[in-house]
Parts: sequence; structure tokens; C-alpha cells
Amino acid sequence: MSMRLTVVGCSGSYPGPESPASCYLVEAEHEGRTWSILLDLGNGALGALHRYVDPLAVDAVFLSHLHADHCIDMTSYYVLRKYHPDGEQVPLPVWGPRRTSRRLARAYDLPKKPGMREEFVFHRHRPDAPPVQLGPFSVQPVAVEHPVEAYGLRIAVGDRVLAYSGDTGPCAGLDRIAEGADLFLVEASFLGSADNPPSLHLTGAEAAEAAARGGAARVLLTHVPPWHDPEVVLAEARTAYDGPMELAVAGSVHEV
Ligand SMILES: [Zn+2]
Ligand SMILES: [Zn+2]
Repeated sequence: MSMRLTVVGCSGSYPGPESPASCYLVEAEHEGRTWSILLDLGNGALGALHRYVDPLAVDAVFLSHLHADHCIDMTSYYVLRKYHPDGEQVPLPVWGPRRTSRRLARAYDLPKKPGMREEFVFHRHRPDAPPVQLGPFSVQPVAVEHPVEAYGLRIAVGDRVLAYSGDTGPCAGLDRIAEGADLFLVEASFLGSADNPPSLHLTGAEAAEAAARGGAARVLLTHVPPWHDPEVVLAEARTAYDGPMELAVAGSVHEV
């Protein structure tokens, strides 16, 4: 059992010239078909998603948090599902923080009721409950530190684990997410040389330290903002982790 990660968008905090904002497609075979889930759907990601999968074939969306660079293309996805000429689509399950439904309705300027509830079925992340089971996937949200309610996600298929940090400062939740991951997809938004605010994002070195503590087998650094040189972020990260590590690039595919 394995899964395939496609980086749809990896630009940090806003879309850049080389990539949309955060969005990751995760696919796995199960019972004779390919199942696919999305981790986040940030600015510009829905357009790029068409290159990798039929957007109507996606099985679920998991939103790490409700900052625009992680969720705002849900407004476009709503249009695609609601008005597609193929006709009415089955409401798509979406997991997110509290008030995801209200947040997205407001973003599209829809009335709160029904908002997008006819197109999506909204579920709250429940970090204390057993993982969500969906086809081949088992998805466990873990609360992390960010200025808004935010989660990292551990996605398991069989004994393989893809761990996604979402946006976070260094915290116990981040260490839990990294633990024993086959691939640790971790944000690295800050430079070590800057005077960074606390509980917001990670430097490359902080991301790498969490990977090393958790014994993650491979690291993919993501969410580097366009205003930083990603090679500097990678070089800082290499000081704290000896294993295989690379920068996420839009369109890259990774077997987990
Ligand atoms: Zn972000
Ligand atoms: Zn954020």
C-alpha cells in the first residue's frame, strides 16, 4: 500500500510566479479505483489542479486552517461543482476548523444559510477522535500553533504515513505530526537571521529539527514565500537534519 503526493501549490502565504498557494493532491489505489483527497486549496490552486486530476473526481478536501492562502479557492471550487454542465454533483465532504462553512460563505458573499452547504458537507476536525477513514486513507488532524485554529494532518495508507505541518510555529503538535513519518511535508516560511514573531511559522532549521526529533524518513520543505530565496531556506534546514530533504516544487510528484 502506498500513496502519491502531487504538489499543486507550495508558495508560502500568497501565490508566486512559479506556484499557486498551498494545495496538495494525495492519491491511492483502493478497491479498483484511484481515490484522491486535497490538503488545502489556496489562492490559484484550483486552476493548476486541473493539470493533475479531474476536479470532479476528488473524494474529499481537508483544510488545515482558514487563512486565504490555504482555503480561498474553495470559493471557485464551489462554482465549478454547482454550475458544471455535467449537472448536479454529489455534495463533497470537507473537513476543516470550526466555522469553515460560515467563513467560505462570507468569502463568496453568500447568505450564511445555506451558504455552500448544498455543494459541500462540512465536518469539524476532531483531534481527540479516531482518525477519519475515507477509502484507503486514514486522516488524523493534530492541533498546531498559529494565530487561528490550525491543524497539521497525518495521512496514513496502510503502514505509510504522509505528515503535513500546515502552518505552525514550533510546538508539541508539530513534533507529534513528524513522528515516524515516511514523508514530512513541512512549512519553512522564515529565515533564521530575521527577528521572527513567535507561534506563527517555522524557519528551515526549526522544520528540520522537528523532522530529526521525530525520525521522519524524508523531508519536503514547503510554504516558502516568494520574497525569500528557497535555497537559503534549504541551506538553513540542512544544518539540522541529515536525511534526504528537498524543496517542494509545483507539479512535483512524490511516492510515499
Ligand atoms: Zn499559509
Ligand atoms: Zn496561516
